[in-house]
Amino acid sequence: MGTKVGLPRAMFYYDYFPLWKSFFNNLGVEVVVSPKTNKDILNRGVNACVDESCLPIKVFHGHVDYLKDKADYIFIPKLISIYKKEYNCPKHLGLPDMVKHSIKGLPKIIDTEVNLKKSDRALKKAIIESGRYFEKSNRRILKAFYDALKQYEDYLKMMTTGAIPLSIQGENGDMDTMKNIIKKDNNRRILILGHSYNVYDQYINMELVKKLRNFKFDVITAEMVEEKKAREYVKELPKRMFWTHGQRIVGAAYSLIEEESISGIIYVSAFGCGLDSVFIDLIERKAKKAKIPFTLLTIDEQTGEAGINTRVEAFTDMLDWRLKDESNISTLR
Ligand code: SF4
Repeated sequence: MGTKVGLPRAMFYYDYFPLWKSFFNNLGVEVVVSPKTNKDILNRGVNACVDESCLPIKVFHGHVDYLKDKADYIFIPKLISIYKKEYNCPKHLGLPDMVKHSIKGLPKIIDTEVNLKKSDRALKKAIIESGRYFEKSNRRILKAFYDALKQYEDYLKMMTTGAIPLSIQGENGDMDTMKNIIKKDNNRRILILGHSYNVYDQYINMELVKKLRNFKFDVITAEMVEEKKAREYVKELPKRMFWTHGQRIVGAAYSLIEEESISGIIYVSAFGCGLDSVFIDLIERKAKKAKIPFTLLTIDEQTGEAGINTRVEAFTDMLDWRLKDESNISTLR
């Protein structure tokens, strides 16, 4: 049996899974992905983690715990900075250490540090460090990565045509193509915002996309807006946005609000998330000016589905009323 690398289906999985999978596969390594989040995984995470952690961090621990006896290595990079002069949440960069501290009996953790804050050159070092576990030749490691990157760029392009990253949730981590058909009717299009792991993990957001589709609304997400465009729009802020996820989330929201191509915004936020409180404030103000209804769904491990259903139903009802009567403006929050 060949060497196996475990990829927890949580946190940055939702941003980088296709890239990481191809990279390891190109090095001849088998990739094992934990299943979609479920009750067992959540319980494992809640038990392993300190109470103060936000929900996605607990979920991440659950996925690692699931994988610990199913792979020879688990890939948990320390993502300090993935863009020049930008940062990630401190909890992102603390992930490998938190996990090692909280979960016993782990296989070897590949915790390569990625810090591109000062320059992109550090990327090459991180790639070689991650590939070194399986391949001696630097040239072959870099080739494996840049080949994977080419495929990943195609995947990113595909998302801007409306294929949403739910597609990377195939049972075996396959990129099955679940298309989100974007129709021309802007009046029935809701933008779901939040960190990718809250928007695309359908267990923790209680199948929000499905619920909205049942109410006959289209769904659009930040990842469907071209990154370059989102980054352009975020420049209108008086201060530079130095959180990478903020560039993506706030920029995408601003562009869609200004283009008048959405009828409402639902922000999914983990209870206690400091970054979200900043992003939410910026987006809510902008939405208010443009008279676009905005609502916030806060999630933690105690969140009940009935509460989410009520809010989603009230929000979509309100959008329906607005379609009939333009002066009907949201008071929801
Ligand atoms: S950005 Fe927010 S939700 Fe994400 S890990 Fe940090 S605190 Fe948790």
